[in-house]
Amino acid sequence: MTIFAKILRGEIPSHIIYEDEHVFSFLDIMPLSRGHTLVIPREPAVTLDKLSEAAAAALGRALPRIARAVLAATGATAFNVLQNNGELAHQAVMHVHFHIIPKYEDGTGLGIGWGAKKLEDGAALAAAIVAKL
Ligand code: AMP
Repeated sequence: MTIFAKILRGEIPSHIIYEDEHVFSFLDIMPLSRGHTLVIPREPAVTLDKLSEAAAAALGRALPRIARAVLAATGATAFNVLQNNGELAHQAVMHVHFHIIPKYEDGTGLGIGWGAKKLEDGAALAAAIVAKL
């Protein structure tokens, strides 16, 4: 069982921000910046691609509302939403979670390395992905 499953069951305490039938939200215990908040489904999916439509829809509804509250409470005006899937992509807790991370003028918040390259083979790649939808 993951640590987030234990938080959902109330076996480990958390600073709760929001909860409904599908969604639970709490403060990150090791925040990158003040107000760093996690938003998770109650459903125990490991990665985003495994999530049910109902849980996905509920997360989509809750995220902007929680982000607005984080901004209003912290005074931040910018934030990143981060969602890691798989160990290779820096996922440490194997239960879907969205990070809401305020970014402040002093630079605290999420640091991003963005090694952008020129798109190669766009038409074929898009067609391959579309065929799998
Ligand atoms: P990730 O690398 O995307 O899997 O991030 C997992 C996040 O969970 C990290 O930011 C941790 O600080 C956070 N975390 C781990 N344990 C707890 C906990 N007990 N309460 C709140 N946040 C936690």
